[in-house]
Amino acid sequence: MRIVIIGAGECGVRASLALREQGFDGAIDLVNGEAHIPYERPPLSKPSADGVALKPIGGTDRLLEDRIALHSDSIALSIDRDAREVALSNHERLPYDKLLIATGARPRPLVLNGNDVPQARYLRSYDDAKALYDVISPDFRLTILGGGFIGLEIAAEARKYGAIVTLIESAPRILGRAVPASLAAKIEARHRMAGVTFHIGKAIASVSAARMITLEDGTEIPSDVVLAGIGSLPNIELAQKAELTIGNGIAVNGMLQTSDPAIYAAGDCCSFPHPLYDNKHIRIESWRAAQEQGDHAAKAMLGSTDAYQAVPWFWSDQYDLTLQIAGLAMDATEEIERKIDEQASILFHLAADGRLLAASGLGIGNSIARDIRFAEMLIAKRAKPDKTFLADPAFKLKSLLSSAV
Ligand code: FAD
Ligand code: NAP
Repeated sequence: MRIVIIGAGECGVRASLALREQGFDGAIDLVNGEAHIPYERPPLSKPSADGVALKPIGGTDRLLEDRIALHSDSIALSIDRDAREVALSNHERLPYDKLLIATGARPRPLVLNGNDVPQARYLRSYDDAKALYDVISPDFRLTILGGGFIGLEIAAEARKYGAIVTLIESAPRILGRAVPASLAAKIEARHRMAGVTFHIGKAIASVSAARMITLEDGTEIPSDVVLAGIGSLPNIELAQKAELTIGNGIAVNGMLQTSDPAIYAAGDCCSFPHPLYDNKHIRIESWRAAQEQGDHAAKAMLGSTDAYQAVPWFWSDQYDLTLQIAGLAMDATEEIERKIDEQASILFHLAADGRLLAASGLGIGNSIARDIRFAEMLIAKRAKPDKTFLADPAFKLKSLLSSAV
């Protein structure tokens, strides 16, 4: 059997390694659209004091040892589903019995008055990060569009370099989609304390060739670099061309299998039904989900029929603060707060029937990590924990696990 994986990001690399861990002995082709060896993305927005480094995933030695054929700087151009072949930009054709699409996502382009804004820069790849950190210096004017994870993590880093940082968010608050308002307010306050200037609820009217940003209220913001972190779009075009079913991403079933049973999709590019959330189709853009789905897709391609049901989890580091969110709070009707210390707290998000759906924590360093870990396990068990226990920081959440169904 031959397995081809398109995309050598977190998900594709993990899938290739998991295939060998599961004892698969056939050929594995890993198509790497980038010229660099496969690398981790989270450090790109949280570089060390020495600047941004390319941190390999798995490492080329491991890929070689595992007999994984890495096709670098090669783009998969099309999938011939009848012939079961993938055509690459270097004119190679890779035959497959099973195919995994792990093409990830790309930055949503900044568009004004129907036109792309050529002055905008983005952060998705190592090359993007290197180009940005090479120019950031004290008094450098960095204007960030978007108060999401990219924007805020880069704002924190750029302040460490002494840059003048302005952040524009068009919505009424930062982190509007994934983070509860009270935690987002604490994050914003931390950024203001560090010297970041915010324009919230403000839309951009224009960006001049010399990168002068004019807001709709007339405010002018001179900028050396304009960085847009306004969300990402799943890379679905290959799947679309191959006439696979598309939703908000490449649509897959619980086994991460597309509408063609020989083709799977996983990571940032796919939307899947989540059993913990009424089997709603969701798309998750997070490092751990990309790994877990790579693992899951590998097992599914080798015959497992288990449904993917890992609790979503992600983190963000900004200054000394760490945010961690487990689960999805979209259907929650009640929030219970657990104050861990002066700066750390966790919000538990409960459904109308008392079921724990999600937990959002913010604190210094590791202060919230242990409770979030237990919350994650309770979410997986569909537990309905006693609210007074959740609110009491002295109460050990671990003890609820044995009584949860
Ligand atoms: P990607 O990592 O996007 O990999 C997909 C790969 O496929 C890419 O290399 C792409 O070039 C390639 N590709 C696409 N199309 C083709 C084609 N046709 N042919 C060949 N190759 C192709 N998540 C967290 O949980 N916490 C964090 O702190 C965090 N920090 C992040 C910081 C940054 C700067 C970024 C960009 C993301 C961060 N994330 C974080 C999100 C996390 O990195 C992603 O969710 C994860 O990388 C998704 O993995 P993936 O393999 O699905 O997609
Ligand atoms: P994001 O987290 O979705 O945030 C985008 C933000 O930009 C949202 O607040 C959005 O508001 C706002 N926005 C949208 N259009 C805008 C406009 N025209 N002007 C100003 N603001 C606008 O996406 P991101 O920060 O760009 O990150 C991209 C990807 O990298 C995501 O997959 C993200 O998960 C990943 N990433 C993750 C982490 C982490 O998990 N720690 C860190 C870095 C990157 P609305 O919600 O109202 O649209």
